Amino acid sequence: MSERDQQEKLEEQACALLLRSPHLSVSQVLDLMDIGDAEFREMLRSNPRIASLMEQRREGALPSVESKMTECPACGEWFVPYASARCCSDTCAKIDQIRNMPNAARRFRMRNRQTGGS
Ligand SMILES: [Zn+2]
Repeated sequence: MSERDQQEKLEEQACALLLRSPHLSVSQVLDLMDIGDAEFREMLRSNPRIASLMEQRREGALPSVESKMTECPACGEWFVPYASARCCSDTCAKIDQIRNMPNAARRFRMRNRQTGGS
């Protein structure tokens, strides 16, 4: 088995695990796993476990949650967001902001390098 095949298998395993959670929407799972639509359709074709999980989700066979829960990106707690809050508290919102900063800077530098900017 090539390294790439192994990588894909792990990705499918993690994806199936996340799809089992009624807390997460399919689009949230794809976001978390960084999986594109085309890639996911391919998984559905090749992985019967993921296909059957999607079937269960469509039929509402997964245990439901009363309120729409979301996972705080900073501390990982599940909470019910109000308005468009991404994090469970102001403290977590700050942590999340700081965490996202180096990434944004790195992306910016990479873009500059690609276009040959200084
Ligand atoms: Zn939090």
